[in-house]
Amino acid sequence: MNNNYFTENTNFYGSTSPKELLMEYGSPLYVYNEKILRQRCREMADLVTYPNFKANFSIKANSNIELLKIVHSEGLYADAMSPGEIYVLLKAGFKPEEIFYVSNNVSEEEMKFAIERGIITSVDSLSQLRQFGRLNPGGKVAIRFNPGIGAGHHEKVVTGGKKTKFGINPEYIDEVKSILKEYSLKLVGVNQHIGSLFMEPESYIESTKYILGIAEQFEDLDFIDFGGGFGIPYRKQEGQQRLDLAYLGEKLDDIMDKWTDKYGKKVFFKTEPGRYIVAECGVLLGTVYSVKQNNGICFVGTDIGFNVLIRPAMYDSHHDIEVYKNASATAKEYKTVTVVGNICESGDIIAKDRLLPQLEEGDIIGVMDAGAYGYSMSSNYNNRLRPAEVLIKENGTAVLIRRRDTLEDLLRNYEIK
Ligand SMILES: *Cc1c(COP(=O)(O)O)cnc(C)c1O
Repeated sequence: MNNNYFTENTNFYGSTSPKELLMEYGSPLYVYNEKILRQRCREMADLVTYPNFKANFSIKANSNIELLKIVHSEGLYADAMSPGEIYVLLKAGFKPEEIFYVSNNVSEEEMKFAIERGIITSVDSLSQLRQFGRLNPGGKVAIRFNPGIGAGHHEKVVTGGKKTKFGINPEYIDEVKSILKEYSLKLVGVNQHIGSLFMEPESYIESTKYILGIAEQFEDLDFIDFGGGFGIPYRKQEGQQRLDLAYLGEKLDDIMDKWTDKYGKKVFFKTEPGRYIVAECGVLLGTVYSVKQNNGICFVGTDIGFNVLIRPAMYDSHHDIEVYKNASATAKEYKTVTVVGNICESGDIIAKDRLLPQLEEGDIIGVMDAGAYGYSMSSNYNNRLRPAEVLIKENGTAVLIRRRDTLEDLLRNYEIK
């Protein structure tokens, strides 16, 4: 298979090219494709036919304000995990009633930030439910339960299940009820999130039964939120298949119809996709500066350090890599290499033992599916500058949607006399 088939098939770079983009905006560079972003939004918005349904974009995956505006224009609502995310969502045009604050171990100040703005907040411990009651007696609240099962691509991203910090365990439902009563709180919704990146629909379908079993123990809920974690195929170059959304949607429709008939109310159902919305619309471009042999390993040195994309270093994540050859050179030969960044740590690896078209200095590489948990987890570690972000619009032209850090940005928060 052609190594670059993903960006070629999708005309990812529109009327421009990786080389032109790096010349204009510098390397490394996050590039997003609007057409793909909109397509993914629509797939999530149209997941089911049940009428009272909303996909809430979990913005921790990518909170670039220009991308948020596009997601909002597609009719999605949003989940926030912090006051900062709420702030950015409001700036992007989301209305308070379109935002759901999924809080975890937060201060009174943080909780007030959401309450004062009329944003429905979910709490995930008895302590936090009491705190909410003290701050907002008689108010509306949602509760995150721990479904007792989890799923995910790495231990660190499994958020449901017996050993995770999230959610209230169902065995405390009696305590929940008495706290609700004590503070005259109205429980408007229940939510869960089993973890990130499931590729088989079954674990998600299974988890909905847990939360519905919990939901039916409460009267007059407005919504039930099944959570996120919809996976994307990170190994497209190996032919990995997509999540079967048609099957998943059909099963969910069936579950929601039957359950609401029994419950006697057509409650709202929500999902919380993060990665599914933004991962595939983003490519991280970088430049090769060195190729060397160290004890039998061929290291390809680039400017994509883990300050720019931490997923491979943090979760051993796989990202497909495309190679854009310098000048007129065409590499037909493939070679197994380890692609690394420019950070002073030996764990600074983007791809280990990867078979790639032969690389040399000056070549450009593209790290695929970098739109989720890429820029949003980037940092200034090693006092490196975070890259710019560029959007390829539907008409194929590129616009800058966030400038690259400057050296002055590194000094911004110091009180220098
Ligand atoms: C991270 C998170 C999500 C989104 O997870 P994805 O794997 O990106 O879909 C949804 N809900 C909650 C509560 C989360 O913490």
